[in-house]
Amino acid sequence: MQTNPTHTHRLGLSAIMTALAVFAVLPLLAQGFFGRVPVVLDGVPASVGVGDSLGEALAERPSLARSGDLLAVTDGRVVLSGGGEPAHVRLNGRPVTPDVRIAPGDTIEVERGADAVEPTVEETHAISIPTKVVGQGAVLTMAAPGSVGVQRVSVGTVSGDIVTSETVVPPEPMILRRMSGDRKKVVALTFDDGPWPGQTDKILDILKREQVPATFFALGVYVKRHPALVARETREGHDVGNHTYYHPNLTTADPKKLQREIAGTNAAIKRAGGERPEWFRPPMGLVNEQSYALLKAEKVRPVLWTVDPQDWHRDAEAARIERAVVDGARPGSVILLHDGGGDRTETIKALPGIIGALRKRGYEFVLLDGLPQAPKARW
Ligand SMILES: [Zn+2]
Repeated sequence: MQTNPTHTHRLGLSAIMTALAVFAVLPLLAQGFFGRVPVVLDGVPASVGVGDSLGEALAERPSLARSGDLLAVTDGRVVLSGGGEPAHVRLNGRPVTPDVRIAPGDTIEVERGADAVEPTVEETHAISIPTKVVGQGAVLTMAAPGSVGVQRVSVGTVSGDIVTSETVVPPEPMILRRMSGDRKKVVALTFDDGPWPGQTDKILDILKREQVPATFFALGVYVKRHPALVARETREGHDVGNHTYYHPNLTTADPKKLQREIAGTNAAIKRAGGERPEWFRPPMGLVNEQSYALLKAEKVRPVLWTVDPQDWHRDAEAARIERAVVDGARPGSVILLHDGGGDRTETIKALPGIIGALRKRGYEFVLLDGLPQAPKARW
């Protein structure tokens, strides 16, 4: 057979054409006619979209490429799901970035990101001043002002958990000393929670007859309602003290409100014809560092009591009130009684007996200024 170069040439051309066609079609076949590219994903045959980058392919499988979680520094609970390290992805055994395009037959391995522990931050907190009341007397004086402490805490930035807490500077307590008097036989009668019509006036009658001075710790709200009783107290030589406006607990009241309670009561007493009160009695006898500072700023002197016959009690009886006062009285005692806040029939009934019995024992009645431990304040 004779070879025909032209034919040979033709044959060669067609082989090249075929090869070219196959070369062009093969990748298409490999990619599939449905737009998917076969790969091996975590050891399992799978397919991804044509032209997908690694990131796009994995976005279709969020459960595979999960980031780790962010854990609380204290107990390891999850505080932010997916807040840990990102997933590790390897393409054909090599770490790659998500923008790499996937080729047919690629092997993709995905490893969930590691959990991470939240960072911590150091914070400094102030420790408030505790209050310590010492001594036995009625008049409160400040023996030490106290100082705030400093606490350093390490806090988880996401959880807010306190990891460590260390007292750098301990707080020093404010020390309030209850001053007691010397042996001078004087006592001070005090009446709280008035003025109270029908009761305060009866008490004033007895005190006038017996020529005994007393201190009335009035509530601003009643002073405003019954100014004539306050005027009479002042006129007859008694002291009118401040017992707040509405009888709040000083240790829990808002400082701004408390300031109004004290200033408002002072103003009400002055408007009723009284003098600006020098003395202040904390409701329930409760006082703390903050309220003590406020009393000082308002220039009133806090005074508690040393004898409490519980005349406010529902079952109080005149005879028992009298006995409790007479048995409890010591030189310098401050006696707590009530002219308001409820029915004080038994207090009124007990009062002449109290005065008589204490006089018989050599006691003299004085205003609070007359107590040896409470000389007149110099503002
Ligand atoms: Zn009271």
